Amino acid sequence: MTTACDVLVVGAGPVGLTLANLLGQQGICVLVVEREHELIDYPRAVGIDDEALRAMQTAGLVEEVLPHTIPDQKTYMVNGDRMILSEVNPTTTREFGWPRRNGFVQPLVDQVLLAGLDRFPNAAVRFGAEVVDLTEDADGVVATLVNGETVRALYVVAAEGGASPTRKRLGILFGGETRPTDGIVIDVANDPIGTPHAVFGGDSARSYASIALPHGIRRWEFTLFEDETEADVDNDEFVFGLLAPHVPDPSKLDIIRRRVYRHHARIAGGFRHGRIFLAGDAAHVMPVVGGQGWNSGIRDAFNLGWKLAAVVKGLSTDGLLDTYETERLGHVTQMVAVSLGRRRR
Ligand SMILES: Cc1cc2nc3c(=O)[nH]c(=O)nc-3n(C[C@H](O)[C@H](O)[C@H](O)COP(=O)(O)OP(=O)(O)OC[C@H]3O[C@@H](n4cnc5c(N)ncnc54)[C@H](O)[C@@H]3O)c2cc1C
Repeated sequence: MTTACDVLVVGAGPVGLTLANLLGQQGICVLVVEREHELIDYPRAVGIDDEALRAMQTAGLVEEVLPHTIPDQKTYMVNGDRMILSEVNPTTTREFGWPRRNGFVQPLVDQVLLAGLDRFPNAAVRFGAEVVDLTEDADGVVATLVNGETVRALYVVAAEGGASPTRKRLGILFGGETRPTDGIVIDVANDPIGTPHAVFGGDSARSYASIALPHGIRRWEFTLFEDETEADVDNDEFVFGLLAPHVPDPSKLDIIRRRVYRHHARIAGGFRHGRIFLAGDAAHVMPVVGGQGWNSGIRDAFNLGWKLAAVVKGLSTDGLLDTYETERLGHVTQMVAVSLGRRRR
């Protein structure tokens, strides 16, 4: 069976879903295909910025997103003795019309983006639909799904996450670096700390972050040492040991998610290959400390959305789509540098 659409989006992560909402609004026939049977639910982004909120506003979803945020979240940097070294409190600035720094819960906002597609008869999502091949011809791209079905589209956007099979299949390099040490994130319900702030601890014993999230959730992140492995995440004693300097009795915590992650800083050698585009983590990944991975992907979707709509509707030539990489590459290169602690201007 072959399905036809204007734009095929591969991956129902935040980037693919944001793009699909923006295209749906424009009346473009858009299909999102997702390998998994539901949205990813493990702990990831905790910071949504003002520009991403403006994108949510454009997509008509900001009122649904705001309840899952802590607006104007203050951030403190402290030393090993918990002495405050600096405070970031950008409450007076509103360049994009929204608070600049906000705590949020990624899985809940991703669900808002998924539900947003119900508004458009011209937008659809299919779960359990892994793309296993893409073939381009003069008029479009044919995607083959794992069950042998095919989808024909004028354009394909691969928003498949950092491991992007499309990027690999196209032989596009993903240059950069991967840090030798991992980090661990632990999300806890019924926050035992209770303050609405984010704290980054430059503790020489072990650096950490302790971040208040909406709905009474707290995120802890700890740097792991080279001899600590992914297996340690399932070891309660190890996890309680990490939390012991922060709460009186970690065994009483209501831990809802825990996961080890790796710090990558990589950018694809090109964001466009003919009628196929890379967006979000498929195009660039960065250490989580800058809180810019999710936000950078939303900027990709925002940049690409109106351009794809204009070209599909015949309001612009295909050349407009070349400006996607031109406009996004420089900014995302800076965000990767900032996330590595190497500020570039
Ligand atoms: C611990 C941690 C903390 C983070 N904190 C922040 C933060 O504070 N702020 C921030 O901005 N970012 C943060 N990030 C980064 C952020 O989570 C990611 O940048 C973001 O989720 C990327 O979205 P995406 O849509 O590009 O990819 P993903 O969310 O990875 O979605 C890709 C989707 O594509 C699907 N897929 C893959 N291959 C196929 C295929 N062949 N066919 C069909 N579907 C496929 C996958 O199943 C997946 O659902 C953090 C990440 C981590 C791990």
